[in-house]
Amino acid sequence: MLNQGLGSWPARRARRTPESVAVIYGDDSYTYAQLAAHSHGVARFLVEQGIHHGDRVAFLGPNQPGFLTTLFGAGQVGAVFVPLNTRLADAELGFLLDDSGATLLVYDSRYGENAHALAADRPGLRTVDVADFDALTASEPVRKPVVLDDVALILYTSGTTGRPKGALLTHGNLTWNSVNVVIDIDLCGTDVALLSAPLFHTAALGMACLPTLLKGGTVVLENKFDVERSFDLIERHRITFLAGVPTMFEALARSPRWPGANLSSLRFLLCGGAPLTAELIERYQARNLPLMQGYGLTEAAPSVLMQSPGDGVEHAGAAGAPAFFTDVRLRTPDGRPAAVDEPGELEVFGPNVVSEYWRRPDVSPLNEDGWLCTGDVAVVDEIGDYRIIDRLKDMFISGGENVYPAEVEAALRDHPGVVDVAVIGMPDPVWGEVGKALVVAEPGLTADELRNFARAHLGKYKIPKVVVFVDGLPRNPTGKVDKQALRRREGAPDRTP
Ligand code: AMP
Repeated sequence: MLNQGLGSWPARRARRTPESVAVIYGDDSYTYAQLAAHSHGVARFLVEQGIHHGDRVAFLGPNQPGFLTTLFGAGQVGAVFVPLNTRLADAELGFLLDDSGATLLVYDSRYGENAHALAADRPGLRTVDVADFDALTASEPVRKPVVLDDVALILYTSGTTGRPKGALLTHGNLTWNSVNVVIDIDLCGTDVALLSAPLFHTAALGMACLPTLLKGGTVVLENKFDVERSFDLIERHRITFLAGVPTMFEALARSPRWPGANLSSLRFLLCGGAPLTAELIERYQARNLPLMQGYGLTEAAPSVLMQSPGDGVEHAGAAGAPAFFTDVRLRTPDGRPAAVDEPGELEVFGPNVVSEYWRRPDVSPLNEDGWLCTGDVAVVDEIGDYRIIDRLKDMFISGGENVYPAEVEAALRDHPGVVDVAVIGMPDPVWGEVGKALVVAEPGLTADELRNFARAHLGKYKIPKVVVFVDGLPRNPTGKVDKQALRRREGAPDRTP
């Protein structure tokens, strides 16, 4: 086959396990033969639309089979898939469409109004309702050459410098990441993964969806996380693999359904985004359920560190050992390799690591030796177990979504009544962390007015839950807001920046 990329996966699987169920969505299910036929149909449609190798095809919608047929269809043609975060404000989506230069936007009808408004301002952008893809099938793939070094996805990550950057994930990055996961958790063709975290993040796509499909297992797609429904689906489909963030695993364990639910089918529960508490691990362990920590990031597609099922509560708070084909190292601020138990910035090397950002030759994800600098601080003990202890980058995670204070501060600063502003993450029992904005303002500005203003520019999850007005902000000698002093003053956990 000419195509070595993701776009060839459905056909390769359909040759081996055509009748196995690949995707379950509500009451519908698709075998690998059907997934292949739909993906081929979408690929043909893209060719008819004049989409060529390297063109960008954006997708706006929650989890559904059309996400996958667009991903695989685009992959067949050699086009670049650009999944958009449905939680972003239209202004943010517009930036991503402009930056990526997408010429086609595939949307779910729930986002039809947004898609049409975005396209009305962009003459070069066509739109198509993903529901139209239901009728598209073809028996043969489109035969276009695609190699592992070709770009498969642009995934946007915000940054400490404001505007989001598009990480260029190649077909090779995603393939090697999937191989990492398959090997490390010993995934089988009989595994059934429940995916209620959004596929537009690498955590759900890279840690669970693609590896399961590579092995010929089944993915059950949900377009949002719901505690009750999760228990129903685990029991109904005999789910074996659950991937998510701590907030989700907490919600399941605290539900009244927890004691009576039949969870005996679960083989792996993989949790990323923040360290797990011993208490939560114990609750799962008491039911013989191995709740494991994983650490990753978009730029590594995302697998970096993973615990193994036997790690248990004595490894609470640890993120595990490096993924199979991936190497990590820790470097102290003066550039030395960190000793055992000495904190250092985590750096990553491997075939799953991206080497560029889209149209940003000025910023490289890699250092001069070709290692990915994560901006996360870790320690390693003598048995090789890594622990993420701090973050060099100014970021917090709210309900599994990364929030970069620099981006929120820039948006709030645009309000004429704001003189100065700093945003920090505060611990929260439900969301892990929530934003708190400390604002120096002109007289008369209210918290509600500022939050309403921010809504037009920022996704809802980025809007600070708490806005307080202050007389001034602490600054360090270089004149920058001293976030560490601010966090201490506000009673948030200490951090390096
Ligand atoms: P993203 O690129 O959106 O996948 O976010 C990646 C970032 O999430 C990492 O750089 C870390 O700061 C954070 N992160 C991911 N997994 C963990 C974990 N297990 N423990 C602590 N932080 C994590």
